[in-house]
Amino acid sequence: MTINNKYPNLKFYYIFDSSFTKFFKLEGIVLYPFVFISMPKDKVSPKILKHELTHVEQVRREGPLKFYTKYLYYIYKSRQQNGNFLSAFLYNEYEDEAYENETNPLTDDEIRETEWKGSRTNKRNNKKRKFGHYK
Ligand SMILES: [Zn+2]
Repeated sequence: MTINNKYPNLKFYYIFDSSFTKFFKLEGIVLYPFVFISMPKDKVSPKILKHELTHVEQVRREGPLKFYTKYLYYIYKSRQQNGNFLSAFLYNEYEDEAYENETNPLTDDEIRETEWKGSRTNKRNNKKRKFGHYK
């Protein structure tokens, strides 16, 4: 995933608990150099974060100009086709990749970058807890 990034050093700033994304009923949006996330830092799921980080990856891979030019085109096309520009946030090559990637685990680099504070819930821990092996 990190191979062939044209702009690997682009710095992003992560804004959690964002009223901007809440207003548009989005879970998150990447508007270089900002990543707006609706959920607070300690509540956001790794899945949502991974989705947005995939877009961060795409911006680093293609550069902001190409990424946003193409994305604006998808929004325009979506509005032409069904009168709803928000549907562009569901169906296009960037979203396909992000939805496909969002169930993959966050890497240590990604956790460091976002300063994610959530807990990595996994079934093994829950099972242990159920049998009372926790202290
Ligand atoms: Zn997306």
